[in-house]
Amino acid sequence: MRQLEEAILNYGRVFPGNVLKVDSFLNHQVDVLLSDKMAEELYHVFKDDSPTKILTLEASGIALAVLVARRFGVPMLFAKKMRTANASPEAYMEDVRSFTRGKTFTIYVSKEYLSPADRVLIVDDFLATGSAAVGMRNIVNRAGATLCGMGIAIEKGFQNGGDELRAAGVKVHSLAVIDSMTDGFLTFRD
Ligand code: 5GP
Repeated sequence: MRQLEEAILNYGRVFPGNVLKVDSFLNHQVDVLLSDKMAEELYHVFKDDSPTKILTLEASGIALAVLVARRFGVPMLFAKKMRTANASPEAYMEDVRSFTRGKTFTIYVSKEYLSPADRVLIVDDFLATGSAAVGMRNIVNRAGATLCGMGIAIEKGFQNGGDELRAAGVKVHSLAVIDSMTDGFLTFRD
C-alpha cells in the first residue's frame, strides 16, 4: 500500500538489530486516517472470507484491529500478555518469543470468546519471525475455530515468518513488505 510505504520512508527509523520504529504513526502515536485506509484495504482483501472475529495481540495491534473489526461489524479480541505464568483452564495459552525484546512470554485468550463457530482474521502491526502470528494461530486452532487469514501492516519479509505461513497455506496479506533494511535503506517487495 503506497501510502503506508511512504509513511515508513518518511517517518520510520531503523535501529540496530533490524528493528524498525514507526512510533509516530503506528506503534505509539496512531495516524487514524492512515490506519483507517489500511483497515479498508484489509476489509477488501478478506471480505469474502467472512470473519466473525478479529484477533490481535496487545498492545500495538489493537488500533488497527479495532478499525478492521468496525468495517466487518464484528468483535475485536486481543490476546493478553501474561505478567505471571499461571496456567488457567479457562484460557488458551501460547508462548511467544518477542523479537524486539529477545524474551519469551505467554499470551492468552479466554475460552469464553472463541468457539468452533468462529471464523478468525488475525491482524497485527508487524510480522517478522512469525512467533506472535503462530502463537495466535495455535490459539485459533485449539479453540476449533477457523482461521480466515492474517492481515498485517508491516511485514519484514527478510525475517521469513510471513513466507513460512504462506507456505503452510495461510492467507497472509501484508500492506507493506520490506525485503531489506540494510544501512538504513529500505526496499519494498512489489
Ligand atoms: P514476530 O513474532 O513476527 O517475530 O514479531 C511480531 C511482533 O514483534 C509484533 O507484534 C511487533 O510488536 C514486534 N516487532 C517485530 N519486529 C518489529 C520491528 O521491527 N519494529 C517494531 N516496532 N515492532 C516489531
